[in-house]
Amino acid sequence: MKGKLLIIGFGPGSFQHITERAREAIQESDIIIGYKTYVELIAGLLTNQEIISTGMTEEVSRAQEAVRRAEQGKIVAVISSGDAGVYGMAGLVYEVLIEKGWKQATGVEVEVIPGISAINSCASLLGAPVMHDACTISLSDHLTPWNLIEKRIEAAAQADFVIALYNPKSGRRTRQIMEAQKILLKYRSPDTPVGLVKSAYRDSQNIVLTNLQDMLEHEIGMLTTVLIGNSSTFFYDGLIITPRGYQRKYTLNKTVQPLKPHQRLQKEAEPWALPQADDVKPLKNKTVTAISVKESPRELAEEALQMILGENQGFSQDLMVKQDFQSIFELAVSPGVANKKFTAKQMMILSEIVGEDGVMEYTQDHYIKLQILTSIPDTIVERLAAANFLIAPVGDVLTVKACDFCDGEKKDSIPYAEELHERLGGMELPKELKLGVNGCGMACYGAVKEDIGIVYRKGAFDLFLGAKTAGRSAHPGQIVAEGIAPDQIVGVVERIVHEYKQKAYPNERFYKFFKRVKRVQGFLYQDITPNIKIEVPVCGE
Ligand code: SAH
Repeated sequence: MKGKLLIIGFGPGSFQHITERAREAIQESDIIIGYKTYVELIAGLLTNQEIISTGMTEEVSRAQEAVRRAEQGKIVAVISSGDAGVYGMAGLVYEVLIEKGWKQATGVEVEVIPGISAINSCASLLGAPVMHDACTISLSDHLTPWNLIEKRIEAAAQADFVIALYNPKSGRRTRQIMEAQKILLKYRSPDTPVGLVKSAYRDSQNIVLTNLQDMLEHEIGMLTTVLIGNSSTFFYDGLIITPRGYQRKYTLNKTVQPLKPHQRLQKEAEPWALPQADDVKPLKNKTVTAISVKESPRELAEEALQMILGENQGFSQDLMVKQDFQSIFELAVSPGVANKKFTAKQMMILSEIVGEDGVMEYTQDHYIKLQILTSIPDTIVERLAAANFLIAPVGDVLTVKACDFCDGEKKDSIPYAEELHERLGGMELPKELKLGVNGCGMACYGAVKEDIGIVYRKGAFDLFLGAKTAGRSAHPGQIVAEGIAPDQIVGVVERIVHEYKQKAYPNERFYKFFKRVKRVQGFLYQDITPNIKIEVPVCGE
């Protein structure tokens, strides 16, 4: 009768985190072979197995003994903490078997039983630091030359991997972790989040949150795993989190924003993805290339020089890993609230900024919407502002749609339009909202057809609320007040908008909101939808 080798990873050390198969395997075995501390950790699961426990450094003799006993017909469990295939006994046992000419078909049966490795158990205690491409590096140079370990740290640091350092330090090996930190600091910011987890899921568990710069000021030992974040890892409420991906976009006045769920996984939202052969080009009809907005001739010159000199000469390169991903920056521009005339210079600046790869879209509400791939949204805003553009965010925000006040001739109400734009333009709302401002009773820019409309007439404003601006049942807003004094109008509109912002459901358009609540700032909703019966035409008539 042939024996069997069960190579078992029993997880971090608590019974709850041992797999069902690992428990069974332990019960099935005649003999348990493992490092003393490990045998003690699983002592509660043993029945009457023979125990062969040895010291830490006797791994090879443990593997040899296990093979010998299995060949004698015994069921032998070789135990490792975590996963037996991660710096554990699995490889060693196979090596001993291979040396003896073992073959799967004829030799003793081998079963490797997976367990939760330290990278997983420690990560779970820290929050979600791994999440993205990660690697494990053992700092133990007993079996691996230090210069190879150094190379791996260097490569992992450069490539922005999340890194789990196993065997970071022992009584004798104390320099390795210092050297590792030095290498990492070449490529990663000193405040990169670092988690030190000692004895995860064991009685003496200890968790420290620190950063790359300060990590050596804390206790690190044989039972510690050092988890080092990538360049986008962050601390949050006592946790370390690495975001799942890089999907994001820029919006005006905001730093980087996550994409809304419906925007994710769209090609345009992933400008960094490797184009596929049959790809429709990501933005409009051009392959995405970097839009480089070089600030100064000096920058251009330096870049050129660097290309000539090659990477390692002349310049001291900044090695720090930066995720300088270009994201889509969306915003809208117009010449002004009342002004509808772009200058030639403005158009030239627009074409320069948007470049070959961006998108310029003419919108219904007197704006040109821009989509620009960039990593420097602030610089773009500065340039547009310097060219006297009116800059507005896009999305569920308030947009002021003013007329041109008969080319500025009927200018009395322009200041109110401008003040409304200043106070309310770009305000985030449950749904996009257009505020129409027209400068005379002709209202030829259609203020009464906007969500909220005000029309200047005889030195005062008429107020229209709740137009349904689109669809087959589109209708104008209802007039709810006439002759509002100019010094009142801004306040009135502002209060209406605030009430809508506070009380509307997400995605509820202003007309629906007005219809639902029936009264906004004292203005009453009246059902003025025409009740016309529409005959279905008889076919052929
Ligand atoms: N096979 C094990 C790793 C063995 S190497 C596994 O897959 O997890 C030993 C190293 O693993 C230790 O130096 C430490 O860095 C890490 N380690 C193992 N168990 C751990 C635990 N419970 N908590 C923290 N680190 C642990």
